[in-house]
Amino acid sequence: QRPVPSDIVISRSCVPKPIDCLASEIGLLSYEVELYGKTKAKVQLETIDRLRAQADGKYVVVTGITPTPLGEGKSTTTIGLVQALGAHLNRNVFACVRQPSQGPTFGIKGGAAGGGYSQVIPMEEFNLHLTGDIHAITAANNLVAAAIDARMFHEATQSDKALFNRLVPLSGGQRKFSPVQINRLKKLGIEKTDPSTLTEEEITRFARLDIDPESITWQRVLDTNDRFLRKITVGQSPTEKGHTRTAQFDITVASEIMAVLALTSSMEDMRQRLAKMVVATSRSGVPITTEDLGVCGALTVLMKDAIKPNLMQTLEGNPVFVHAGPFANIAHGNSSILADKIALKLVGPDGFVVTEAGFGADIGMEKFFNIKCRYSGLRPHVVVLVATVRALKMHGGGPTNLELVEKGCSNLRKQVENAKHFGVPVVVAVNAFKTDSEAELQLICKLAKEAGAFDAVPCTHWADGGAGAVELGKAVQKAAEAPSKFSFLYDIELPVVDKIRIIAQKIYGADDIELLPDAQHKVDLYTKQGFGNLPICMAKTHLSLSHDAEKKGVPTGFVLPIRDIRASVGAGFLYPLVGTVSIEPLQEKIVLSWYRDRMPCVQQVQL
Ligand code: ADP
Repeated sequence: QRPVPSDIVISRSCVPKPIDCLASEIGLLSYEVELYGKTKAKVQLETIDRLRAQADGKYVVVTGITPTPLGEGKSTTTIGLVQALGAHLNRNVFACVRQPSQGPTFGIKGGAAGGGYSQVIPMEEFNLHLTGDIHAITAANNLVAAAIDARMFHEATQSDKALFNRLVPLSGGQRKFSPVQINRLKKLGIEKTDPSTLTEEEITRFARLDIDPESITWQRVLDTNDRFLRKITVGQSPTEKGHTRTAQFDITVASEIMAVLALTSSMEDMRQRLAKMVVATSRSGVPITTEDLGVCGALTVLMKDAIKPNLMQTLEGNPVFVHAGPFANIAHGNSSILADKIALKLVGPDGFVVTEAGFGADIGMEKFFNIKCRYSGLRPHVVVLVATVRALKMHGGGPTNLELVEKGCSNLRKQVENAKHFGVPVVVAVNAFKTDSEAELQLICKLAKEAGAFDAVPCTHWADGGAGAVELGKAVQKAAEAPSKFSFLYDIELPVVDKIRIIAQKIYGADDIELLPDAQHKVDLYTKQGFGNLPICMAKTHLSLSHDAEKKGVPTGFVLPIRDIRASVGAGFLYPLVGTVSIEPLQEKIVLSWYRDRMPCVQQVQL
């Protein structure tokens, strides 16, 4: 076997085609493309309207077995498959992937451009900054955080009249409500549009949100693993004396605005979602939204460019949309609906759009179906489930022999079953490493087919580029023609607890769930506030089917503890926190010692 150079050497050795040439090759009109230098461009949303009459292409989602902390090659396989279908099987293709967070990029995991000869290029552009979407989200999120603290400060220090005058300033000698303020008045049952006609009682109700500081769920964010910001005290300046409170930084890709970007379907829909985000509760139990804070217009403007998908390319010159990047364990883990919709139109009915759902099938794929597909209305034709010998050995209990691979295939079997719950054909892609034996690869394919996969093939796209995934491409083409009967795992109208229990039992294999007191309180609160009919986005470790990262294979006999539940009302889901999962910036509290003891490949990893 010839040696494969490092990812960065391969990436830099390839000269990308000018992005405007790629854009015109795939049928974009020049006014639909906004260039960001020579290798990146944003694509206008109006493209969807122009292509409305065009039938969609086939829709493929790439997922995986329960991974090691290094990843098992889902991004690499997404790109390899697109290269195979495009450059070798002559199909129109598009890859739709997430923009990586700086957290993992500078951590143990590294970037997410794929690897070997299956990559998005240029790697540095892809992994860092891109066109600034994550920065825009950070700015928008922190504007809300600032508005919450400023509002509490002003309400504590100013009279009702002064507050009112601050909110509705004089302009040309007159006060006038903005459309957002008129909405707020309506919500309060005050049908007036002239500020001078409000009674004193109405002025008080309009001006005071009366936020309960204990109820604030909105945190500041940063796209860096900065552990010293996981708990902070705000308001230490003498000018904010008496208004200190403890708060925290979350990582930007776990923020609700990131989820809104990924799930939105148009500029107007994004504006509405940004307005509906609940940040806290008033002392009388009313949910406080970004609209109540009066910042949703500013948020929409801050996000106006971020909403457009970013066009890049693979090493073999196929188009890639890189758009939105929510984490999969603590957020919903899928790239944007808008990118998929534009790509499906651009490839046409004979083409293929391949998108990736983060982490294992129990996490990203379950959320892909139950959250993303529910909001997009799109129905996938094929699931590609990536497996590796190294991860299956880990599930089997160690790095040595065929029996361990066979034992570890319990995890593969369960994840095939999880994909089949949704009624879509599953193709298993065994991502081959140079240390794997032919016998190991064949054994996995045999066991995958026995487990009900439509097909299972070894592939070498990491070492060979698209040529190494041609068999996978052929299997995916066949599977896309096979009958499928898609269904969701749960009915959205079921009580919150029932929806969580269905995911825990059917996907994770739990005996039952246990709601800890904070979680029970939230179930009651959100149900009362009218948010009980949202889909569920479980925040759970990706390193096990259970809540315990050390339990490998297919854990049984466990009860899933639900520590707390949060609401992302604008994005449109409730997210239960499972076990000890953390949504703060340090995402790598993974049990490295466990892997270091058992897996030689992880022993070299430095944190
Ligand atoms: P995932 O998307 O599942 O997290 P990635 O595709 O990002 O995984 O791959 C994780 C890392 O493993 C990358 O650095 C990639 O280059 C490397 N990798 C993937 N497939 C192979 C392979 N077949 N051989 C060697 N390294 C690989």
